[in-house]
Amino acid sequence: MSTCLYPFHPQPKLPQSLLAAPPLRQRAAMANVRWPTGGLITVGVLPAQIADDWGQHLRAAVRQYAAEWTQYANLAFAFVDTWQGADVTVNLQPAREAPYGTYSSLLGTECRYASSEGEASTHLVFDPHDPANTDQELGRVIRHEFGHVLGLIHEHERPDRPLVWDLPAVLAYYEPLTGWSEADIQQQVIEPYAGAIVAETNWDPTSIMMYPVPPGLATVNGQPFSVGWNLVLSDRDKRIAAAMYPRSVPAIGQSPPPPAGPAGLKAAADLPGPPPPATASVAVGCVVGQPTAITITLDQPATEDIAVFPASDNPDDTFTAGTT
Ligand SMILES: [Zn+2]
Repeated sequence: MSTCLYPFHPQPKLPQSLLAAPPLRQRAAMANVRWPTGGLITVGVLPAQIADDWGQHLRAAVRQYAAEWTQYANLAFAFVDTWQGADVTVNLQPAREAPYGTYSSLLGTECRYASSEGEASTHLVFDPHDPANTDQELGRVIRHEFGHVLGLIHEHERPDRPLVWDLPAVLAYYEPLTGWSEADIQQQVIEPYAGAIVAETNWDPTSIMMYPVPPGLATVNGQPFSVGWNLVLSDRDKRIAAAMYPRSVPAIGQSPPPPAGPAGLKAAADLPGPPPPATASVAVGCVVGQPTAITITLDQPATEDIAVFPASDNPDDTFTAGTT
């Protein structure tokens, strides 16, 4: 497995109004970075003119693995060969500020803060000379970074994670692996995410958004905890994507179904299912107090709730139907 992990995720250029807003909740995915449900997200991938086979291979990999998310999320990616007008700007080429092994992305619609400036929102700078950059590794990294593009945060940084870190052990593992400073490791591994969220599953150590935790770095409930390199979307990854971007959304102007639970607080449903493959129904909130039924087909039976939280007073902080 590559020693290149997920280097520094740059802080977005947030407007002062957002910077000043207090965090609403501190869990799995930020409400104010969601794309409009049903939207078409334009993804510019540069450089466009890559003559060699490796470049073509990378571009095909981005299209293939990013699109896996859209099997579950009601979104579509349109891949283009320019950053002009793109929502998400992907850089494949090494540069001084993004050397080989730089994998990072802004979250959700925050990508537009970079793309509107003609800068990369997402770095996928694979070294063609690194034999560890197999198709499996490309898939792992691209799936993870496009999880960020959807708006997902790192699973190990959820404030409700049950992890208790051994800081010296974490530093001893991640410093040689990544070359990060202690401050970077604190930010990328240790510190909980402080932004607002819209929905969550139970904590999921098998998530593609989880970093590896080798033995000796952390405990859970007083017991040693470890997890390897997650390579593919977990069942909960698929479900949170489906909950954030539901398939069944009332068209603009139509009346949504009545709320199914306490108004505006939580719209969740049990997800009983037959043996796999299972089809499960879940009520999710598209707008505060206006949950709508969606159907999710998964590889495994659903066994838990998805909690969907109300939006804030921020006008950006709501699901909306339609396309961008
Ligand atoms: Zn990441």
